[in-house]
Amino acid sequence: MSKFLFTVFLLCSCLFSGAGIALGQEQKSRYVTLSYNDREVLQEFNDNLQLSRKLSYNTRKKNVVTVADEVLAKTDIIIEKVQIVLDMFPNNYHIRLVLLADESDVARVYKQKYGKRVDHIAYYSLSEKTIYISADDTSLRVLSHEIGHSIVDHYFQVRPPYNIHELMARFAEKHVTD
Ligand SMILES: [Zn+2]
Repeated sequence: MSKFLFTVFLLCSCLFSGAGIALGQEQKSRYVTLSYNDREVLQEFNDNLQLSRKLSYNTRKKNVVTVADEVLAKTDIIIEKVQIVLDMFPNNYHIRLVLLADESDVARVYKQKYGKRVDHIAYYSLSEKTIYISADDTSLRVLSHEIGHSIVDHYFQVRPPYNIHELMARFAEKHVTD
């Protein structure tokens, strides 16, 4: 590739890699494209994402070398479990998972996109098929709730009313440890 073409290529990759946040590392699994800027944030997310015993049994079967591998393996397992809980197995399910340092980063990204101030520790963007989550506040329940939203979103062709969407996400959060 010529130097010029390479520059153009780089520029395009940046333009397509998501508005508003400078994305650093990116890695894919079956269901997830993981994005994070900072290895410490990745580590904190991984430490806070404690699986239940039943769920963690499944991670041992997977090839896990790096922290990112572990995060992706755990997230895929949670996604499969939430699909079972909701009894919804959408085709072509794939989401982006963006790790942010803390609640104020989540608020900053949300404000940039929607112009509103919120105090979410995580949210799922329907238009971007993306979960934004504060590594600081991550837990199995918080991630399962947002994954619940994403599965409901992929499953229905006509979007259910907001309250029903929320109800199903809460159901996923509650029963992920069953
Ligand atoms: Zn919700």
